[in-house]
Amino acid sequence: MVKVLIPTALRQFTEGSRSQLDINAKTISEAISILLMENQKLASQLVDENGELRNFVNLFLNNEDIRELQGNRTKVSDSDTIRIVPAIAGGLQDSAVEHKIQITPREYRRYGRHLIIPEVGMEGQRRLKSAKVLVIGTGGLGSPSSLYLAAAGVGTIGLIDFDVIDETNLHRQILYSEKDVGKSKVQTAKERLTEANPNVTIKTYEEPLSSQNALQIFKDYDIIVDGTDNFPTRYLTNDACVISGKPNVYASIFRFEGQATVFDPKRGGPCYRCLYPKPPPPGLVPSCAEGGVLGVLPGLVGLIQATETVKLILVKGEPLIGRLLLYDALGMTFEELKIKRNPKCPVCGPNPEITKLIDYEMFCGVQKDQDVASVLPLQLGQELKEGKQILLLDVREPHEWDIVHIEGAKMIPLNQLPERVNELDSAEEIVAYCHTGGRSARATDFLRGLGYKKVRNLEGGIEAWAVEVDTSLPRY
Ligand SMILES: [Zn+2]
Repeated sequence: MVKVLIPTALRQFTEGSRSQLDINAKTISEAISILLMENQKLASQLVDENGELRNFVNLFLNNEDIRELQGNRTKVSDSDTIRIVPAIAGGLQDSAVEHKIQITPREYRRYGRHLIIPEVGMEGQRRLKSAKVLVIGTGGLGSPSSLYLAAAGVGTIGLIDFDVIDETNLHRQILYSEKDVGKSKVQTAKERLTEANPNVTIKTYEEPLSSQNALQIFKDYDIIVDGTDNFPTRYLTNDACVISGKPNVYASIFRFEGQATVFDPKRGGPCYRCLYPKPPPPGLVPSCAEGGVLGVLPGLVGLIQATETVKLILVKGEPLIGRLLLYDALGMTFEELKIKRNPKCPVCGPNPEITKLIDYEMFCGVQKDQDVASVLPLQLGQELKEGKQILLLDVREPHEWDIVHIEGAKMIPLNQLPERVNELDSAEEIVAYCHTGGRSARATDFLRGLGYKKVRNLEGGIEAWAVEVDTSLPRY
């Protein structure tokens, strides 16, 4: 007899609402056939018109995805357990969102076009009003997602960000206007969202998300929307979501490309670490500040996050659990990759190594400023003024050089540095710079590792140089 475990959501479709059935079978295929024959209502949920298991249903044999074994042909024996995991079916359990809150007559008209959709209706609108969603980062992704979530009537929206609005944010962060430059992002966002819909409660956290505050903040929310732009916060968000059992509506953007999925191990899907157990070395994947991003891109990707969030709240449709959506704006294509839970995942696996939050800066290898030999723009300006011989090494890309560079500098893009290092004299004083200081910190590290002891990194890059020293230079 092999044991078949039935997930909560499907128990109502078995005879006698069973959580577990014992079946006499020799293969997965045989076990499932017998199960479905004996439980016709379950079959109508799990099998498509061709008699195949629907592709949102995953089967695990003793914690291993059968796709990693021999699929349906995998042999089973007496002590085995088959687990049915509907990777995509289901959203928030009823208990996760209290949907007792009433819609007031004044709100009827505002949400009128929602109320006439059968999948939303009064019940759905009450669920939206009762839901609590935390948006991490109120930048490119957080702007459109929070704006639409507020407009749609999500009752409580938390915003976490500690940045101030910069002019370079405005081409994509549509919550903010020119007049807001220099102001706090979360405060400005709160005003804008309240203007859009005064019926929603906006809570703000003007602080970095950290291992100290994450679980405390997350516990007040049903769904977490990850709109971060750096790896330490991404891993922190993932781990805190897994530990607190909250769905993580994920997206990331770069230049013309976006990715989105819903990480929800509680409902059988993978988490971020199932895909990427460890972060890339610092500096390898540039941020938007370093790599650039098409202004309209986060609009679309952020709205995929908002859409997934609304679907989870309504418990309608098929969430992106177990599917990684790839969007390419240049080709205007959407592709979908199946992503699976990694049974060896260090945080959501059966034997997790990580059971509490760690130091994510250290985990991602982010070096503190004092670790890299660096020089501040004003200090460098002073040294040059005093006539000190310094080679300025620009490690950005040629198209960035064309926008602006420091007169007299030498350009070697970071990725060419290993093969062109012989163009540099190790006896010479060198200051490496890039746009904001990230890539040049890597270059400095790399050169110092090769014995270039007189290399320093220009802190804040040409951006800080243009603000503090040579204000005639254009900024980008
Ligand atoms: Zn995982």
